[in-house]
Amino acid sequence: MAHLLLRGVPLGPPSGGISSIDAVLFDKDGTLSHSEAMLQALAAARVDCALVLADLEAHSPERHRELRDLLERAFGLRASGIHPGGITAVAARDHNLIATATALAQVGLSWPDSLAIAEDTFRQTDRLHGAGGASPPRPTAGLPALLDRLQRANLRCAVISNDHEEGIRGFLQRHDLEHRFEQALWSAEHHPRKPAAGAVHGLCADLGVQPERCALIGDADSDLRMARAAGVPVVIGYRAGWEQPPELEPGWPELHHWDELEAAAD
Ligand SMILES: [Mg+2]
Repeated sequence: MAHLLLRGVPLGPPSGGISSIDAVLFDKDGTLSHSEAMLQALAAARVDCALVLADLEAHSPERHRELRDLLERAFGLRASGIHPGGITAVAARDHNLIATATALAQVGLSWPDSLAIAEDTFRQTDRLHGAGGASPPRPTAGLPALLDRLQRANLRCAVISNDHEEGIRGFLQRHDLEHRFEQALWSAEHHPRKPAAGAVHGLCADLGVQPERCALIGDADSDLRMARAAGVPVVIGYRAGWEQPPELEPGWPELHHWDELEAAAD
């Protein structure tokens, strides 16, 4: 049993007071890991691949340009990087695939053709996800020291992510973080997925902890709203996982570096 302190201030529910907790649930992309460069390369490769497969450039350059624009906007690809709250950053593979097919349908392809091209696009670019690309995800600054502090306070740590289980475990293994996290995790293969409150309930049941005795840290409003809806008292927005810090709804406690977070035994 312990509580968290943010810049020296003990954390509790919005109604006030200090929450005694047993576990901290972490989002992965943009929270445990800097994933922006990998996600940007992945989204750009998906755009290029879909454009080649749609094969519009020679006979319909205008629709080709329109498709590029639609895909880039759908994926949250911007000149400044990738939208931290966009579909590439936040959503699971199948949602991204449907968004790709929708963009193809919007330039006049039939739905079966759109879906087939989207599926082909993802098959051809999946290897760039996770560690497969030129810029694999790396832990955010100060993470191992934070995990030490949490461990010393007997707090358990778990991951709740829309990445696949293989991607989550691969990231933890590569960076020698696996032993710091519980075996139980919640991934894109679990049901319901983030951002359903049931995702938090499912993970908590697997861990054998009550949602009311957890903290959750994520880099997207969808994570934070999910946690609140699930009855998690300590909900923290993490903003240091992106070049351009994500804009979160006002009112969430915000972390700008893991050094700002301490744990103390009750
Ligand atoms: Mg995230």
